[in-house]
Amino acid sequence: MILLNGKKLALEIQSEIKKEVDLFKQASITPGLAVIMIGDDAASQVYVRKKAEACKEVGIYSVVHEMPENIKEETILNTIKLMNENSNINGILVQLPLPSHINQTKILEAIDPKKDVDGFHPFNIGRLVLNLDSFVPCTPLGIMKIFEEYKINLEGKNVCIVGASNIVGKPMLALLLNANATVDICHIYTKNLKNHTKRADIVIIGVGKAGLITEDMVKDDAIVIDIGINRLENGKISGDVDFENVSKKCSYITPVPGGVGPMTIAMLLSNTLKATKL
Ligand code: NAD
Repeated sequence: MILLNGKKLALEIQSEIKKEVDLFKQASITPGLAVIMIGDDAASQVYVRKKAEACKEVGIYSVVHEMPENIKEETILNTIKLMNENSNINGILVQLPLPSHINQTKILEAIDPKKDVDGFHPFNIGRLVLNLDSFVPCTPLGIMKIFEEYKINLEGKNVCIVGASNIVGKPMLALLLNANATVDICHIYTKNLKNHTKRADIVIIGVGKAGLITEDMVKDDAIVIDIGINRLENGKISGDVDFENVSKKCSYITPVPGGVGPMTIAMLLSNTLKATKL
């Protein structure tokens, strides 16, 4: 079994990004990222802090607009408008999830597609589905970079994605189809999940349920990508896969932590650089 070391790859990518950011700075341009964070969700605060730290490490300027849980939609929209017009800001992201009184679609659609570094704007999602150049959501993009790094060929492979959210499963589906894989996508209403995962060469899971994927659900030598992030009662972080037992059976697997998570952050930096180039 080979461990797919996302942490190491992310550090390598970040050091390349730093070199490019330095070149921009020599031309008196500092790439800038604005993050809008609403409410005080503990997990979101950790993610936003990590994103800001990563920006600092590579020399990208970042600003976090923290807003209270009861903020009016109009105030968020006004902030996005200001960031869209601000030439020092190249990338804008709104940390999800949003409070229930806020219309998420309206907020995401307000971001200028050219600054949409999370790739959640319908314009970018549409271009992704059509296999046109676009901002690609960071987690699926990070997984594609892992496949590339470890020379895992996707053409003609049977891939099973478990989890069909707009930000993870659906863009992953588009990327895999564009890479000529045959894709099966499962969700909470899927009957007999094991029937689907068991026949896949590659299983990609992003659900948010620790231990959902057990060894009997994957075939011998499968490649397993675990996106899930779950905090266990003992305080430890775990993915959606029973790592101890599944890892004995598969050919490649991502650990949690240290797999997909760091790649997501590296791809955010990469997308911010791409937005600066635009
Ligand atoms: P979500 O709640 O929006 O979507 C969850 C998806 O899983 C849905 O499609 C749902 O139908 C499906 N699902 C739920 N229970 C299921 C079950 N028992 N069997 C099959 N499918 C089931 O969540 P999300 O935002 O897509 O995030 C999913 C997980 O990925 C979470 O643990 C989240 O923390 C993690 N995540 C990690 C990263 C990263 O960088 N590693 C990035 C984004 C999300």
